[in-house]
Amino acid sequence: MKTIVDVENLCKNFEDTQVLNNINFKVVEGEFIAIMGQSGSGKSTLLYSISGMDRPTSGNVLFCGKDISKLDDEKMSEVRLMQMGFIFQHSYLLKNLSIRDNIILPGFKSGKLSREQVNQNAEALMVKTGIASVADHDIKMVSGGQLQRAAVCRALINQPDILFGDEPTGALNSSTTREVMDIINAVNTEGTTVIIVTHDAKVAARADRVIFLMDGNIHDELKLGKYDGDEKKKSYREKSLYEWLEKQGF
Ligand code: ADP
Ligand code: MG
Repeated sequence: MKTIVDVENLCKNFEDTQVLNNINFKVVEGEFIAIMGQSGSGKSTLLYSISGMDRPTSGNVLFCGKDISKLDDEKMSEVRLMQMGFIFQHSYLLKNLSIRDNIILPGFKSGKLSREQVNQNAEALMVKTGIASVADHDIKMVSGGQLQRAAVCRALINQPDILFGDEPTGALNSSTTREVMDIINAVNTEGTTVIIVTHDAKVAARADRVIFLMDGNIHDELKLGKYDGDEKKKSYREKSLYEWLEKQGF
């Protein structure tokens, strides 16, 4: 199993406050990790530090064997655009552009794939996520669930090695959450590594491994193994996760 993310002695301070306190962990290719913890425990800061959106104060972040914590801003943006995909609580799609154009834009910007490949990839992603019928719609004309599915397509347009999400279902209702998570699980099954922050145990129960952060430290982790969509196993996973979270005082 090849390591894709290797975090070594990661510390992050904001002025005098130490927000991440010597974090060490590895993620192997194809893994799906969920990061949980109380509000303010450092989940977003950890995600941003390992995805090059923010720089660690000290420590190393190896991504595909390369230390990205020392890259200059330009090189870092290139790694993010070419190899990483991001989803947030809100879709941050551009107004006055259609759903399709929002999805295609980072594909044209990166130049990783030919324009034809980008177009084909966009169509395939929209079909897969069930938004092909609204491809030409303005973003103001579609539902919140459709917007978030479009955000997933946009994150995947450059066929990234890893997909990061910070509370990607945080603004969705439970049925839309399930739909978006089915898509994320399918993307993971096809081989894309996934790391998401969530406060929703039902979402985290779909991950291979759950990491619990407390005061900027990894307090504990729970291995659940690959999720296969089986409803019975799903309730068992959720039950084990609830029990474990209770032990963490969550
Ligand atoms: P979580 O995502 O777990 O809720 P965050 O990573 O957002 O937590 O924040 C962890 C701590 O770091 C909080 O106390 C927060 O106030 C602080 N923090 C986060 N970002 C900044 C920043 N840009 N400047 C100063 N403090 C910050
Ligand atoms: Mg956060």
